[in-house]
Amino acid sequence: MPTSLLVNRSDRRAVTADPEGMDGFAVKVSEAVCLGASFALSGICYYLYRKSRTTVNTLNDAPHFNIDKKLTDVLKVTPGVCLQYAVVEGAVQPVGESLNSHFQKETAGVLQKFSLREHRLVWNGFSRTWTDSERLLHQRVNSVPFMLVGSDETTIKVMCPLQADGVQMEITHEKFHQVNYGLGDIVGQFLSGEKLKGQLETEEMLKVGTILTGVGELVLDTDGTLKLQPPSNGSKYFLSITDFDTLRGELEGTAVTWKVFAIVFALAGAAALLWVGRRYYKHRKLHSQREKERREFERLQAERMRNGAGGLEDGLDDDEDNIENACLICLSQPRNCILLDCGHICCCHSCYQALPQHLCPICRQPISRVLPLYHA
Ligand SMILES: [Zn+2]
Ligand SMILES: [Zn+2]
Repeated sequence: MPTSLLVNRSDRRAVTADPEGMDGFAVKVSEAVCLGASFALSGICYYLYRKSRTTVNTLNDAPHFNIDKKLTDVLKVTPGVCLQYAVVEGAVQPVGESLNSHFQKETAGVLQKFSLREHRLVWNGFSRTWTDSERLLHQRVNSVPFMLVGSDETTIKVMCPLQADGVQMEITHEKFHQVNYGLGDIVGQFLSGEKLKGQLETEEMLKVGTILTGVGELVLDTDGTLKLQPPSNGSKYFLSITDFDTLRGELEGTAVTWKVFAIVFALAGAAALLWVGRRYYKHRKLHSQREKERREFERLQAERMRNGAGGLEDGLDDDEDNIENACLICLSQPRNCILLDCGHICCCHSCYQALPQHLCPICRQPISRVLPLYHA
């Protein structure tokens, strides 16, 4: 028996396992992964977009106040002596002692961040280039209590500045310490695929006198001090050395970016869905075509039997004959079709329909037509 017949038999089993229902259509793992990942990522991006959109909206709705006597009066008549979300702008002033820069002795500040980063070149075997990689070795943040001073002598104490979002510090010192190599090091680097470039030392500070924009909850304490603190209603707390419009513009940009990503992933998901749909449509079409073929075959068979040809029933009646004439693929049903143009009679009609390709299983010739077999 030709090996192709053995292969075909297992194919047939796969196809006829579900002959009527969804007729063996299944979504492939790769398609399921594409669909799931696209829609999940789109959902995440949409969630982040909604979140940043809400932040921008609350920022747009927040009232702006000048830091002066009037603000104290406003707060005194506000229920709960608290404004849940407000925007203020003032000059930074330490409450007590200020911090001094380690590198510029004349620079004083209230927040200070010192960081040391290691820069390396790592050989990327895929792109066949050296790429930069950065690692934070050390970071230290110092802070002293500070306040914002307005046009008159009114001040607002800034609480928990390190919890706030936004750009709060400017770089006061930056130095790159390059590494010098000997010949042995260079050989070692090419063997290990890693080159140490050096260390970047930076100091950032929020300098005294900087105009800072603060967005948060404003409260008037019992002792008469004004305080800016993280909002208790869950809105975002901002402290930024850029002005309010720049801060809002940046957040707006972030929202737009998430929106674009959400749309892109949704489109990718839709494309994957369309792809699966198209495959399903083709599958259905093939199935109905086979169904039509089968009906046509049965019609022809019935017609010929009516015309007095009982060949098939003869075959079924006689057991020995039946085995002799059994379909070469399923070995159970009688061979009842003639494959044209080669003329081979080797299989039953259901096995013919289950053939993965329209090729004769014996001689591999293309099958142009199938006729029912009958004996006169
Ligand atoms: Zn068969
Ligand atoms: Zn053939």
